[in-house]
Amino acid sequence: MDVLDILRRQAGRFQCPNCGQSLADCELEMVTHHDDQSLVKVTCAHCKDTRLIAVAFAAETEPEAPVIDLRDQPTEELGAPVNADEVLDARLALAGHQGDLASLLR
Ligand SMILES: [Zn+2]
Repeated sequence: MDVLDILRRQAGRFQCPNCGQSLADCELEMVTHHDDQSLVKVTCAHCKDTRLIAVAFAAETEPEAPVIDLRDQPTEELGAPVNADEVLDARLALAGHQGDLASLLR
C-alpha cells in the first residue's frame, strides 16, 4: 500500500491551515513508516507552510466506516438518577452540619 499515493489522492479535500488553499498540489514526503502508522511531511504549494501529519491506516480498510449506534448501550452502570428524597436528605444533612467545609467532605 502506497501511503503517499493515497494521501495524494485525498489531499485535494484538505485545506492548508496556514493559507487556506487546497492541498491538492502540496508536496508529500514520507518521514517514517512503521506498521500502520506513517509520519508524512506536507508542504503547502502556495505558502510553503510545512507540517508533519500522522497517518494511520487500518489493516483492512472498510469502504464505509461503521456507524456507532449509541441508542442500545446499556445504562445500568451509570447508576439510578438521584431522586427527590435523596436531595432532601442531603439538604437536611447540610442544614444540620456544624463544622467547616473540610470536615463536611471527609
Ligand atoms: Zn498554505
